[in-house]
Amino acid sequence: MIPAAEAIERLKSGNAEFMAAMQRDGSRDGSSVQIPVPVPGEVPAQKPFAVVLSCADSRVPPEVIFQQGCGQLFVQRVAGHVVDDFMRESILFGCEGLGTRLVLVLGHRDCGAVKATLASADPEAAEIPFLGKVRAAIHPAVEACQASYLEATGSQQTDVVNDAVARHVQATVEAVRAFCPDESTGLQVVGAVFDIASGEVLYLD
Ligand SMILES: [Zn+2]
Repeated sequence: MIPAAEAIERLKSGNAEFMAAMQRDGSRDGSSVQIPVPVPGEVPAQKPFAVVLSCADSRVPPEVIFQQGCGQLFVQRVAGHVVDDFMRESILFGCEGLGTRLVLVLGHRDCGAVKATLASADPEAAEIPFLGKVRAAIHPAVEACQASYLEATGSQQTDVVNDAVARHVQATVEAVRAFCPDESTGLQVVGAVFDIASGEVLYLD
């Protein structure tokens, strides 16, 4: 079993490699990204060292941004990293069934689900056709940001979105902590935000 502190260090080290690859390439085609792959013909044991709950955004692939290969992360993904009963069971399986001691909630800047939730407060906006239940789940965490989002423009609006993302990540962390084994088991639930532009994962705590 990998302790939570060691799991965080592995993620930080992998993210540093990813950022270095971005600097080398100057592009995101992944040509210099080296992720471990299994030996042909072998079925390795599943021993992930962390559960990662992330947004489904295609620009936020946890195995890539943490430079982890097959069997190393137990990844849960859904738009806006919202938690429902299926997600709850799957996270608990990662903790209790597979023995991980770290759950990372990974939001990201420029999150479309969070932006759609903020924009849904505009009475003059066209109805948003998608993500209705996801927006409803995100809403309580970002409600306090909606008025300033509608008033802001340009970079100020971006700042409001980033603030709302951090609030929603923190709310998700608290929701996961509520059903996970307590910290006496060594389990830690940690929140972070991925900056798509820089490639850096920024931890909230
Ligand atoms: Zn997102």
